[in-house]
Amino acid sequence: MHLTPKNNRILPEENTVGIIGGGIGGLMSACLLAADGYNVNLFEKNEHLGGKMDEQNVQGYRFDTGPSLLTMPFLLEAFFTACGESLKDWLILKEVQPICRYNYADGEYFDCFENPILTAQEIDRIAPEDRQAYVDFLEYIKVLYDKTADAFLFNTLNSFSDLKGLNLTSFFSIDAFKSVSDVIDEHFDSTYLRQFFKRFTTYNGSSPYSAPGTLNVIPHVELNMGGYYIQGGMYTLVKQLELLANKLGVQIHTNTDVRRILVDTSGARKKIEAIEYFSIQNFTSQNLSSDSEQLGSTKFYCSKVVSNSDAYETYQHLLSGRVRPKMQLLQTRYSEPSCSGFVLLLGLDRHYDQLKHHNIFFSKDYKQEFHDIFQKKQLPNDPTIYISNSSYSDPDDAPNGGSNLFILVNAPYLNTLSEDPTSAIYAKKIISDLENRGLTGLSQHIQYKEIRSPFHFYDKYRSNKGSIYGTSSNGLFSAFLRPRNQSKAIDGLFLTGGSVHPGGGIPLVLQSAFNVQKLMKQS
Ligand SMILES: Cc1cc2nc3c(=O)[nH]c(=O)nc-3n(C[C@H](O)[C@H](O)[C@H](O)COP(=O)(O)OP(=O)(O)OC[C@H]3O[C@@H](n4cnc5c(N)ncnc54)[C@H](O)[C@@H]3O)c2cc1C
Repeated sequence: MHLTPKNNRILPEENTVGIIGGGIGGLMSACLLAADGYNVNLFEKNEHLGGKMDEQNVQGYRFDTGPSLLTMPFLLEAFFTACGESLKDWLILKEVQPICRYNYADGEYFDCFENPILTAQEIDRIAPEDRQAYVDFLEYIKVLYDKTADAFLFNTLNSFSDLKGLNLTSFFSIDAFKSVSDVIDEHFDSTYLRQFFKRFTTYNGSSPYSAPGTLNVIPHVELNMGGYYIQGGMYTLVKQLELLANKLGVQIHTNTDVRRILVDTSGARKKIEAIEYFSIQNFTSQNLSSDSEQLGSTKFYCSKVVSNSDAYETYQHLLSGRVRPKMQLLQTRYSEPSCSGFVLLLGLDRHYDQLKHHNIFFSKDYKQEFHDIFQKKQLPNDPTIYISNSSYSDPDDAPNGGSNLFILVNAPYLNTLSEDPTSAIYAKKIISDLENRGLTGLSQHIQYKEIRSPFHFYDKYRSNKGSIYGTSSNGLFSAFLRPRNQSKAIDGLFLTGGSVHPGGGIPLVLQSAFNVQKLMKQS
């Protein structure tokens, strides 16, 4: 960086990038850009990296407290290749069998395998009338994926030329004008398979009764392409990304809270000038200018910023009033957030034979559950309960033959930015529901218990209203309303992560990092 004699303004080098946030989007962007030769500094407010992909180690139990399932591993392979590495040298991906056990309210269960023969046997047992429908639907969603992936997923949708391949009439052929639920009801007679397929819309925090039928591509990526666990725990991905970032020369600053993105408005176009941050703990780095404007704040001069903070946070809070782009202000203010999650971590002194690695306990009335979450905006009275029990695959995750249950219930995004005083009561209800669903004596076997309500996701990771997958897809045009990966109003501003295009979940976040890499190269 150098000073211009005229106004003492520090001019950043063209290739200096500041990344705000060390979630997986920030980390992956950092690695890709460092591999491209940029000088990258990453700033994370928490004491450790990973954002919502987090881990808790306590009393001998290990919990992944964010993602528990990895899909579309070919994107991770492409990522390591782009960084000059090979996935197999960094991670071991394991298929879990069954992929998931689904428990229905009437006591029936369904084990879903990646192996179609095993799944067919299960369908013969619980829903023989839909055996052929299942095969046909897997083919239908494969075709749906082939028709849509390049247009929506692997397309930056950044300029009008990116949209030219899309036309309104072709939206009929991808069932965009029907809901996910309507399409599924047309294909299946069995209530078991209907509820099973409707569940996948929750992978991006949306309701199957509102999201367009095109989102039926989601089960394709799990059922036709596979669902994986990362050996050593999902958080291993974060640890390995940190190692890779270090190897590629990324400077990582944890405990560092970015408060403002500074924009140079002196020229014809607004452009990135610096970011201003506060150190939560003191640290020194040769790369940082200690040109303090405010007591305790420091500036990092850079020509490019990649924000991995939630898009709402980026546009509403990190940019000052003068420079906030109006369009994105409105977009982030009025887009509906995805649902949040109510989480319970239970360390048990026993295991339950009926629990596999991934388990679902479906509610009785699915439609009512989503009505509670998205319309009434209240915790569902009869929730579907997801349990990740990684000790099934990795016994070391719990001491003395016990088990580590990560329990997740879909919850509404926050109405008020405060802790819900009824969380302990709701946690008790979930435990009691599980006891009634066959986990006999559960409450007597709890050695460790922790409750994380939707407020946690807002407070710890600054997710908009505690949403866990960015914005919802509960509308026909949601894919187009999601904030883009490059700002058109401010030169040098890029966005990565689950709150921006193409959406939430590990593979899409990774795709957002690829988009940033591509757009930065073109800029
Ligand atoms: C309970 C749960 C279960 C999930 N299950 C799955 C799953 O099974 N499979 C799957 O694929 N996905 C799953 N997801 C979604 C997935 O975890 C997210 O989509 C993904 O981790 C989001 O990554 P991100 O890059 O958007 O960053 P985030 O995780 O949101 O991280 C952003 C980071 O930026 C930091 N930050 C924000 N503002 C600032 C600032 N001003 N200064 C410095 N730092 C800042 C935050 O502290 C945070 O670390 C799940 C999520 C949750 C919460």
